[in-house]
Amino acid sequence: MSGLAFEIDPARLLADLRHLATFGKQGTGVTRLAFSRPDVEARRWLRERMEQAGLAAAIDDVGNVIGEAPADGPAILIGSHSDSVPGGGWLDGAMGVIYGIEIARAVIEAGLAERCPVDAVAFQDEESTYLPTLGSRTLFGAVGEDEISVARNIDGHRLADAIAASGFAGNPPRRLDPGRYRAFLEAHIEQGPRLEAMETRIGVVTAIVGIRRFRVHVDGQAGHAGTVPMAMRKDAGAVAIGLSGALLEGFAALAGPDTVWNIGSLTLTPGAANVIPEAAEIVVEIRDTDPAILDSLEDRLRALARDHADRSGQEIAAIRTLDIPPAAMDPGLGGEIEAAARALGAPHVRMPSGAGHDAMVLCRYMPSAMLFVPSIGGHSHTVIEDTSEEDIVLGCRVLAGAVARIASG
Ligand SMILES: [Zn+2]
Repeated sequence: MSGLAFEIDPARLLADLRHLATFGKQGTGVTRLAFSRPDVEARRWLRERMEQAGLAAAIDDVGNVIGEAPADGPAILIGSHSDSVPGGGWLDGAMGVIYGIEIARAVIEAGLAERCPVDAVAFQDEESTYLPTLGSRTLFGAVGEDEISVARNIDGHRLADAIAASGFAGNPPRRLDPGRYRAFLEAHIEQGPRLEAMETRIGVVTAIVGIRRFRVHVDGQAGHAGTVPMAMRKDAGAVAIGLSGALLEGFAALAGPDTVWNIGSLTLTPGAANVIPEAAEIVVEIRDTDPAILDSLEDRLRALARDHADRSGQEIAAIRTLDIPPAAMDPGLGGEIEAAARALGAPHVRMPSGAGHDAMVLCRYMPSAMLFVPSIGGHSHTVIEDTSEEDIVLGCRVLAGAVARIASG
């Protein structure tokens, strides 16, 4: 270590976080949907705050806020998203954004901007009010005009209109040059119960899980539920329920330590107590960081579907409707976060991220790493989401320590 030393200011970090939570405040949480008035106002404030920190800050034509350190690269980019889900938590995304500003500010105050340039970023629409990871993908030219022209929110409002109404449309577009950066670091709340249950305070993310989703459709024959003998029925519901049970058991037999799966929807048609279901549909989702495990679960799903179709004599179609590959985080950067946690005596653990993040976009263009802090009760995407102030401050200190190590390495 070449003695790069700077200190974050915990009171200023918490004050900025509390202030950001006033935009779209809803009880103890926020509703700050991408391109809504609170989102636009929050982004203007973030730009000001970045300027005050000594960064050259601008909002681009989709609402990303980027503050650039007053130095040539290689720089470290730190940030997350500042938009929220409806009735979301005050820290989801916001914490990673303010960490970026606080660390960039502390570096400049310590006179280290030349040796350790830190850029801060607040990405737009990670939560897919209109288009998932719109902001981070736009910064690398990875969003098509066609995607923007068809995107709408849940009420049918067009993304193009939302961008125009926000006032961002006239801003210069922005692309990030991966050549400027040695790393992207995203801190985030865990959004689950694992760190708390392990009494561990820092999660070092190994990878963001891949997600595969399937719509499994079973054909049957409608009939009177009182008059058709059991042996003569083609009951789509019974087959779908039997298949569901077999899938849950089959997945458990193949799962790795971090594999998760969910049958989140089961629909019977027509859906009446006295009618044999003529059709049934289940929606199955599987997540893991290992593509080989995802492959084996998918193979099992298809084999079981064939098997249940053969036994029932009814048609079963399994269609893959979503396939997001796992995104590996950079092990070297993860090691620096671990080393920084160790230096601060912070209990830490390597873990996957079961939720998607902007880092899964960034890692395609530059080495990327993520740090998690515990979520109280594991709550997320709800206004009761929270993290203790001690953990918020510790997470920022660990990330700052990792920045010092990366910049001097
Ligand atoms: Zn988030």
